[in-house]
This record gives sequence, structure tokens and C-alpha cells, in this order.
Amino acid sequence: MNPKTSPLMIYMNGRLVPKEEAVVSVFDHGFLYGDGVFEGIRAYNGRVFRLQEHMDRLYRSARAIILDIKMSPEDLIQKVLETLRANQLRDAYVRLVVSRGTGDLGLDPRKCPEPTIIIIADKIALYPEECYSVGLDVVTVSTRRNSSQALSPNIKALNYLNNILAKIEANLVGVREAIMLNLEGFVAECTGDNIFYIKGDRLITPPTTAGALDGITRNCVMELAPSLGLKAEEKLFTPYDLYTAEESFLTGTAAEVIPVIRIDSRTIGSGKPGAKTQKLIRAFRDLTQKEGVPI
Ligand code: PMP
Repeated sequence: MNPKTSPLMIYMNGRLVPKEEAVVSVFDHGFLYGDGVFEGIRAYNGRVFRLQEHMDRLYRSARAIILDIKMSPEDLIQKVLETLRANQLRDAYVRLVVSRGTGDLGLDPRKCPEPTIIIIADKIALYPEECYSVGLDVVTVSTRRNSSQALSPNIKALNYLNNILAKIEANLVGVREAIMLNLEGFVAECTGDNIFYIKGDRLITPPTTAGALDGITRNCVMELAPSLGLKAEEKLFTPYDLYTAEESFLTGTAAEVIPVIRIDSRTIGSGKPGAKTQKLIRAFRDLTQKEGVPI
């Protein structure tokens, strides 16, 4: 594809259309109410990483909100691959969105007979390299993660206002990410990433019941841990455990594995990306180059 002449092609409700034509109705309940679910997926070196896991999570999110995708996961996988092929992308970020679809101004989902299915495959906007070599400065914010008794943070829903409020707090103090606590004061996750810390040979992350998304990168890191001599553990913890950790890092599809070197003005470990974190970064990058569904 010549990026100057060929428009980005977007999958929308059964068709591939140029970017300019890929528009949704103002009556779409994804737009009006944030009623819908989504996934952010990566393709590396001509293969889509952990595609089945992303699809499984999408269908679990949809099931939880009684949203009928009206297409099998197998067919949707094919549409993701077709969209990547149409744009001749080998390394890409894919945003797969399923909204409740077009209804009326009321919030009743029964007014929306057809879901809106959108697949955007585009080049990846990577974090600047210095974030990986220097590490991130992050803060704990006052916005608490949604209570799972009100809205499960494990539904990857289109309504991200809870996370956005936390991100605004991080922006206001000039750092890239915010650590969100749950209502009990335990660490849940960041606005778009999961969080880990390392003490000795223990690699610790909050359980999903604490309000952490069942992150796909999180699960990769936990799988890789034993090969690096680390014991992965899900455990409730507070900011104190982070302040006194030897190393800390975040995980996410867009961020991959990214070191954290300051939390709430406390230096973590030596103040440089930790040796174990760097090993995990390398192991994760190796995995992304080896695995995946061929485009
Ligand atoms: N938590 C939140 C709130 C997220 O939005 C994301 C990104 N999807 C993650 C964690 C990381 O999950 P994953 O590794 O599956 O991208």
C-alpha cells in the first residue's frame, strides 16, 4: 500500500470502506451512552498476537451486557485478518469495536436491533523510546476504580470515563499514567495498563477481583515469569508495597511492558528500570515475534 495515495480501509458492518466513509449514526448507543465493548489488539511481524484471547475477552464482555454480536468469533477473526490484509499492515494496532448499534434517544438497548461492528487497523503510535529506557513516573490518583459491585472493570466497555478522570489527574501533575485504587484502598490497575511489582523472586499483581482487567499482556508476563526465575502471584496490596518494591512495571497491549521508576515521588529500587523488568521486556518482545495468527 502506498500510504500517500491509498486511504485507510475500515471494516464496518460487513464492508471495507475508506476512512472518510467510516462514520456512525448519532443515534448509535455506543456514541450516546458508551453502550458497547471493544478490544485493542496488536499485530507483530505479520502475525496477530493472542488473537483468540482477545476474541474470547470480547465475547465475554458482550455476554455480560447481553450484547449479541451476531457473528461467530471465528468469522470475526477472519474479518480482523481481512482488514489487516486490505491495508497491507504487518505491524499494527487493531481496534475492534462492537457497539449496541442504532436506536432512539432512550437508553433501552432493545431499541437497537443490530450491533455496529467496526475494525480499525492502523500503524502503532508507540510510547517514546525513553519511556522504556528511562522508565515512567506515575502517581496514585483520587479517582477510584469503578466498584465491581456497580460495574465490573472486567467488562471492556466503551465507557472509559472512570479511567479518563484518572488520566486527567495524571495529566494535571505532568505524568503519563495514574495508579487507580479500588474502593477498599487496594491497588487495582492503571488507566489503560495493569501494574506489577517485584520483591526478590516474587512478581506480584492485583487479582482481577481487586478491579484489574484480565489483561492479555499481564497474562503473558505471568506465563513468562517462571522461565526468568520469578514466581508470579496475584495478591491484594496497597501503595506502600509499591513504594518499597525493588522494581515495578506496567503492562498493556499498546505499552507492552514498561518500567516504572517513580511512584508518588518515591524512587522505586535504584531509580532505573530494574534488571528483572528488562529481562521480562526482552522475553515479551521475543514472544511477540514468534507467536500469533498469520495475517
Ligand atoms: N487495564 C485497562 C483499564 C485497559 O484498558 C487495558 C488495555 N486494554 C489494560 C488494563 C491492559 O490489558 P491488555 O494487556 O489486554 O491490553
